Amino acid sequence: MTKPIQKIAVIGTGTLGAQIAMLASNAGYDVTIFDRQVGAFDAMMDKQHTDLTAKQIDPFIPFDKWPACRQQIRQVENLDEAVKDADLVIEAVPENLELKRKVFQQLGQLTSAEAILATNSSSIPVSYLEKSSGRPERCLNLHFYMALHGMNMADVMGGSRTLPEVLDAGMRWVRSLGCFPLTVKKELLGFCFNRVWRAIKREVLYMWANDFVDFRDIDRAWMKFTGRGDRSGPFGMMDSVGLDVIYDIEMVYYRDSKDPKDHPPKALKQKIDRGELGVKTGKGFYSYPDPEYLRDDFLSTKD
Ligand code: NAD
Repeated sequence: MTKPIQKIAVIGTGTLGAQIAMLASNAGYDVTIFDRQVGAFDAMMDKQHTDLTAKQIDPFIPFDKWPACRQQIRQVENLDEAVKDADLVIEAVPENLELKRKVFQQLGQLTSAEAILATNSSSIPVSYLEKSSGRPERCLNLHFYMALHGMNMADVMGGSRTLPEVLDAGMRWVRSLGCFPLTVKKELLGFCFNRVWRAIKREVLYMWANDFVDFRDIDRAWMKFTGRGDRSGPFGMMDSVGLDVIYDIEMVYYRDSKDPKDHPPKALKQKIDRGELGVKTGKGFYSYPDPEYLRDDFLSTKD
């Protein structure tokens, strides 16, 4: 039996975990968070505020509701305390298979037998992690996008033995947050929309790293093509995601296919090694908090 979901624990409150915690708090759930770096949630929410303001995006949860949502979220300093009463735990630690397996193993030991264990991984199917938890039937992928930035949707995908009632509870929970569940009917690396986005990333990184086209022109073309003149193109979006996260995700596809064409370019790794991780470090492809693509003249045809 699956209990109604009331208590949520979010593990890892960086770019995505912080947004998931906010979504859950906004929907009235009892939310507890744990990050191994003390203060990660507050630091990330401040960064999100600056980023959304600079991009003039009305966030999915209006700014005036942020203080109440943030205040209702309980921040704890150990994993055990965060998850012991949780009905649903969603991990959003970095995209590293061994790290996520370790977290799933800990969750299997520290949570109640009925708890649902979800991964927010951008690329790793839960079937790669479920065994570590000792209860694969209660594990699933719940992959959120940047909801605060208006992408209020989440892929929902089961593992090799996920119970239908667990999938159903996951879908209902996603809807209850005001997000669209994108149901993936059988295991697919990249889920629903991330697989589409990944094809775009691979192409544009190849064009940039081999110096075929200036990355700004690719972003300009994208912004015109999609009518998203007020936002950004793929390079601006990768900066928002975090270039280290992008690299790790590309490596998951590469390890799966072993096709050299799927290996992320060296130039991307060099940027990461220089600490150019995107919005979170103030420099990626663009510089923040005032990236070039938000300036009035970015889409100007004048010389
Ligand atoms: P991030 O680097 O911004 O945040 C990760 C957080 O996890 C950090 O605050 C870090 O201190 C914390 N952490 C690391 N190890 C931990 C541990 N053992 N226990 C508790 N906390 C720990 O990463 P992110 O961009 O939020 O990505 C997290 C996950 O979400 C990844 O699996 C990623 O693929 C996925 N994701 C990211 C995006 C995105 O746009 N960034 C979108 C969808 C999904």
